[in-house]
Amino acid sequence: MANPADIVVDRLTKAYGKFLAVDHISFEVPKGAVVGFLGPNGAGKTTTIRMLTCFLPPTSGMARVAGLDVFQQSLAVRRQIGYLAENTPLYPEMRVEEYLIFRGKLRGMERAVLRRRIAQVAEMCWLSDRLRWLVGNLSKGYRQRLGIADALLHNPPVLVLDEPTVGLDPAQIRQTRKLIANLAGQHTVLLSTHILSEVELVCQRAIIIGRGRILAQGTPEELKQQGAGRGAGRLVVEVRGPVAQVRSALDALPGVQQVEILAGGVAGTLAVTGTLDATLKEQIAAVIHQRGWALREMRSGGATLEEFFVQITDPGAAAAA
Ligand code: ATP
Repeated sequence: MANPADIVVDRLTKAYGKFLAVDHISFEVPKGAVVGFLGPNGAGKTTTIRMLTCFLPPTSGMARVAGLDVFQQSLAVRRQIGYLAENTPLYPEMRVEEYLIFRGKLRGMERAVLRRRIAQVAEMCWLSDRLRWLVGNLSKGYRQRLGIADALLHNPPVLVLDEPTVGLDPAQIRQTRKLIANLAGQHTVLLSTHILSEVELVCQRAIIIGRGRILAQGTPEELKQQGAGRGAGRLVVEVRGPVAQVRSALDALPGVQQVEILAGGVAGTLAVTGTLDATLKEQIAAVIHQRGWALREMRSGGATLEEFFVQITDPGAAAAA
């Protein structure tokens, strides 16, 4: 049997006056999965997350977290959920351990349980050697880990992480992603992010939202396939001929957005991005033939998640790219 869902959202809607910031969205996050929640700026991610974490009442629709109704049972839901907000407010004058004790007490955790749990989350989040540090002296990466440790403190089954790697350097980004990947199985994670590669690295599934609506959802592989099916992606063309001239000739074809030289030499390999329909393929073959060059191979280079994302969230930009 498939895992039961830990987050169930059904036709959830938030209106600001006549503007629908979140417009009848429905999705599920299976127990123990890490699911990416993606969308361009203003798509409605934070609004959705704030409804799921009981900070914002919806206009209509339903959401359940760990089997509990977010609106009818908000106190119980908060006990089941750990939330890392985009800008976690931390207290710079507190020591890391003090801060975690303070947060645990706010949640009504018993002292002995809290001590044990602080040691556990500090280890999980690689914070053990920073427990005596002042929060204000922590680097951004360590502050982010502290935010995640705080979200994990009461051992909630569900975690909602809003842009956890924003502002981190590459090494910190890698560590934070590893930490999130390690949470899979033990916790259900909804991970809001702008970063497509992050989704491929840590998420089993992704939900793409734009202008308040769900535009696509599936595994990263399924989304890439959907992209390729819609003509996103690239064609790899191998041609015997002067590669710079081949590039200009292909670039001039209608429907071509970009031509990149992948390899030069007697036979050049070029990657063509554009509206990759049958007509374009025929035109590429025809122009190569007319110019007296030889077409050695034409194959699909597949679509990246990024190409699919741009295509569905901003079709205008995709066409102009
Ligand atoms: P970002 O990635 O930039 O954080 P987001 O996907 O989280 O974007 P939201 O913050 O959920 O987007 O905003 C969704 C839309 O709702 C935006 O157009 C925003 O301007 C609008 N919005 C958010 N809060 C309010 C509010 N209190 N009143 C009116 N409009 C709002």
